[in-house]
Amino acid sequence: MKIVRFTASGRRHYGILKGDKVQLISGNPFGGIKLLEDAFKLSEVKLLAPCVPSKIAAIGINYRGHAAEFKHDLPASPLMFLKPSTAVIGPLADIVYPSISKQVDFEGEMGIVISRKARRVEPAEALDFVLGYTCFNDVTARDLQKIDGQWTRAKSFDTFAAVGPWIETELDTSALKIETRLNGEVKQSGNTRDLIFPVARLVAAVSRVMTLLPGDVIASGTPEGVGPMQPGDMVEVRIEGIGGLVNHVATEK
Ligand code: MG
Repeated sequence: MKIVRFTASGRRHYGILKGDKVQLISGNPFGGIKLLEDAFKLSEVKLLAPCVPSKIAAIGINYRGHAAEFKHDLPASPLMFLKPSTAVIGPLADIVYPSISKQVDFEGEMGIVISRKARRVEPAEALDFVLGYTCFNDVTARDLQKIDGQWTRAKSFDTFAAVGPWIETELDTSALKIETRLNGEVKQSGNTRDLIFPVARLVAAVSRVMTLLPGDVIASGTPEGVGPMQPGDMVEVRIEGIGGLVNHVATEK
């Protein structure tokens, strides 16, 4: 099932995407999904980020290839940082290139969307707290990350957390192809089988630190091949079994 969030006729809704049709659901998808009769054509709606996270817990260095390209040792436990809710954008929204950065990189990742309040969950039960999976672009001002030594400024600009296009609820994430394309050219090509810490370990580890709320997102880390974007570029994060998240890069006004 593909859960979407969208605007239609000036109102925001959650719905289920079936082919080229979006069927409304009652309320939000976090307390169980109740389909309503009303439906829209996909072409009539504007898709939004498929959830409204209170926070994004992002994981650094979770693919061996990416650790190697940045000459990092492999972490003994998941390396966590936060991206603010104000950074979130949805499909086809612009990533705004901040004037104070000279290098803004894409990082294609799988996003894990939390279904219900999770605190100190065990890996064996962790998937019960996952609503589904989405594509995520952990946009990063790489030059500022290197200058600062910690990552808040580099990772937190408005528009630096692209999420979507929907939440796929039925997905085995043990071996999914994940790609990032820049203007159609494949720049990152990885597979979730190479995650150092897979989904259940991540949900458990993050929930031991911070209570996860419905709609929160864990960005599970990026494979090797990260690189810079320029204003005017089109970037797509594509994950097997989910689909593609497309955004454009725009100059700061
Ligand atoms: Mg990342």
